[in-house]
Amino acid sequence: MKKLAKRIMQLAEKYQDYTALNLSKLIKIKSLSQDEGKVNLELKRQMEEAGFDEVRIDGLGNVIGRIGHGKKILAIDGHMDTVDFGRLDNWDFHPLCGEIKEGFVHGRGTVDQEGGPAAFVTSGRILKELGFDKDWTIYFTGTVMEEDCDGLCWKYLYEEEGIHPDMAISTEPTNLNIYRGHRGRMEMKVSFKGISSHGSAPERGKNAIYMASRAALEIEKLNEHLAVDEFLGKGSITISEFKSGSPSLCAVADFASLHLDRRLTWGETKESAVAEIKEIIKDMEAEVEVLHYEETAYTGLRYGMEKYYPTWKIDESEAVVQKGVETYEQLFDKKPMVDKWTFSTNGVTINGYYKVPMIGFGPGNEVLAHAPNEKVPTDHLVKASAFYALFAFLLED
Ligand SMILES: [Zn+2]
Repeated sequence: MKKLAKRIMQLAEKYQDYTALNLSKLIKIKSLSQDEGKVNLELKRQMEEAGFDEVRIDGLGNVIGRIGHGKKILAIDGHMDTVDFGRLDNWDFHPLCGEIKEGFVHGRGTVDQEGGPAAFVTSGRILKELGFDKDWTIYFTGTVMEEDCDGLCWKYLYEEEGIHPDMAISTEPTNLNIYRGHRGRMEMKVSFKGISSHGSAPERGKNAIYMASRAALEIEKLNEHLAVDEFLGKGSITISEFKSGSPSLCAVADFASLHLDRRLTWGETKESAVAEIKEIIKDMEAEVEVLHYEETAYTGLRYGMEKYYPTWKIDESEAVVQKGVETYEQLFDKKPMVDKWTFSTNGVTINGYYKVPMIGFGPGNEVLAHAPNEKVPTDHLVKASAFYALFAFLLED
């Protein structure tokens, strides 16, 4: 192990209880999407206590902590909102307990994904303690609304705050592997217009449900033929909702709609996905639209984006992946597993829209995300805090 890596690992280990306790404090504050105000005040307090150069909260409610003032920017991101508990009787402990025992921190959000921010607060403390002075600015972002609209927070940071990173690390759970992409996704709605007539004489009308049903069966077939990427897997499409309407239950339905959940693999785009649906409905009285997300942040700001979350993948030979591998090898004396997420992250905007080179490295096992009995090993928190700090030190000026 190189000297600096060793020093950083020692500090990360020394701060193990501090990191676990910081996470426990975050977990005790319930923080559903659009309600991250309290948890973000606590994260801000922790960054200040750790000696960050500047900490503030932006208009959407993201916490932005800064260390350094160099020309290039590294962003280390973790979202602070969590999903709800689900059925409490599926849990062996209370989701807000934040209990630290038997080598784990327990509770909703420990894996997905306040463990990442707790670890990066400690990495900031280590950077300050070791006098980080590279020509880089490190932004640590505790972001909002990710569970409902992944990437929206980074649309705000990039477009409204003007933060344009040269590199980024997502701290979403990777089980301490290095991840370099995931499939994208989008939501579409297909609307069918029929003509109603009395239910006793359906031949006079045009039934929108039959039209939508024919399209639905074609969409089922489409799913079998979507593109496959060796690394990311296959694209997919499914119908998540079927609605219809008619003037009466004794009339031909004059309206129907399908809500489509489309997962996009490499090479599939918004345009290609919309074109496939247009081909299916071309002889029907129907149209397809990409849906829009717009909601009110806890700060009161309304903000939104199209529900198109692009696929992203970084080549293994790119500098950001190589830097991640080098950091890992120096700290842990072995080769990392380089893989991908099954779920979607803020990478959809950070890299998908804005092309910022990015990797993922985070504490916790993603199978516990959104599941009962969520808990993260404190050992993962320690290793992640060492990883973020050494990664910053290994950046080239
Ligand atoms: Zn997440």
